[in-house]
Amino acid sequence: MLLYIHIPFCRSKCGYCSFFSIPGPGPADLDAYLSHLESEIAIWGRRLDRTGVQRPISSIYIGGGTPSLLSLDQMERIAKALERNFALGPGLEWSLEANPDSAADRDYLRGLLALGVNRLSLGLQSLDNKKLEVLGRRHQSAQGVKAFDLARQAGFANISLDLIWGLPGQRALEWLRELETVVRLQPDHLSCYGLTLEEETPLAQAETAGEIVLPLENEQAKMFLQGAELLESKGYLHYEISNFSRMGFACRHNQGYWQSRSYIGLGAGAVSTLGGLRWETPRNLDEYAEQVRTERIGEAAAALTPEDKVKELVMLSLRTTKGLNLIEYREHTGQDFLRRHRRLIQVLRQNDLIRVHPGQLRLTRSGMLVSNAILERFLQEVPGHLPDDTRDHAPALESGSKS
Ligand code: SF4
Repeated sequence: MLLYIHIPFCRSKCGYCSFFSIPGPGPADLDAYLSHLESEIAIWGRRLDRTGVQRPISSIYIGGGTPSLLSLDQMERIAKALERNFALGPGLEWSLEANPDSAADRDYLRGLLALGVNRLSLGLQSLDNKKLEVLGRRHQSAQGVKAFDLARQAGFANISLDLIWGLPGQRALEWLRELETVVRLQPDHLSCYGLTLEEETPLAQAETAGEIVLPLENEQAKMFLQGAELLESKGYLHYEISNFSRMGFACRHNQGYWQSRSYIGLGAGAVSTLGGLRWETPRNLDEYAEQVRTERIGEAAAALTPEDKVKELVMLSLRTTKGLNLIEYREHTGQDFLRRHRRLIQVLRQNDLIRVHPGQLRLTRSGMLVSNAILERFLQEVPGHLPDDTRDHAPALESGSKS
């Protein structure tokens, strides 16, 4: 089972951010939140034991927000609560998201390693100070590089860097040069996201007002396609639309999501999928605290329908370069994917947007560029009524969540 913890606080809000994160918390806010989190961890430890679902945790991912706002003492409280309440599996992958302005400290980074964190995901986003300013990031390029160097010196052997492409005014050539520079740092993993302007964010408003202009579509296509080629030529495996890794450094936690494995999400605004049920904790600190206090957390769990599961299987697996396992699809639906989507597959193959291999179907890189449109077409054609035996047979959590 995978375990996610959400830390919904940041020093300030970036101009493109639509994640659940509250800017400018004080020490007391963090402490109070941690107390609720410790209680929630204990509640789920008991419930999972009781329902027999408790199984070793194979990966922990602390995301946000900015988890690196937590002090080492606060991080230790989380580590201890997890050890007390969950069976942590051998070879555990433990990732933590960090921002350069709160993690560029060797002692802090060493302390994280000592607690068991063994994978650092650093929010570099860009090496161009002007672009960082447009994004509303708090750090400058040199600080990002310094945080990376310090993490290496501290002993992190698995560091991922987050980057954003398709920034206002950016040209493909600039992005490729930036990638060349980043690769020289020798990160183990890279997550490269195209900028999307979510409604109501300051950056989306700036675009509407004509204050910023995003690169044209063909320029963005070059960034994605040539960027992926460049990274592959430097030894990074393109294993998911936005993710690249050196051999053996793919993020096991995120791979678990794409393989539709069970996960439990703790903290405000976290999503869980376990025992055929899905629930999300409140994206409101007071409501979250109240649900933890009254042990009603997770009570709003809803059963995933067989159709939901098949849609997710198609949607998540086609994001990866491995693609959709056609045998698994048949086991879930009793249907042949190639036959069911025959006409659509024919058109997509003619346009070199998908490839079919024995037992697998995957998007080509050009297909990944238009993945949303392709997935939408496939999902429209997912059968409406599927047999009920596509449900998980893990014990339902309802009994535990009402205790
Ligand atoms: S650091 Fe991340 S979570 Fe926090 S405001 Fe910026 S984008 Fe959002």
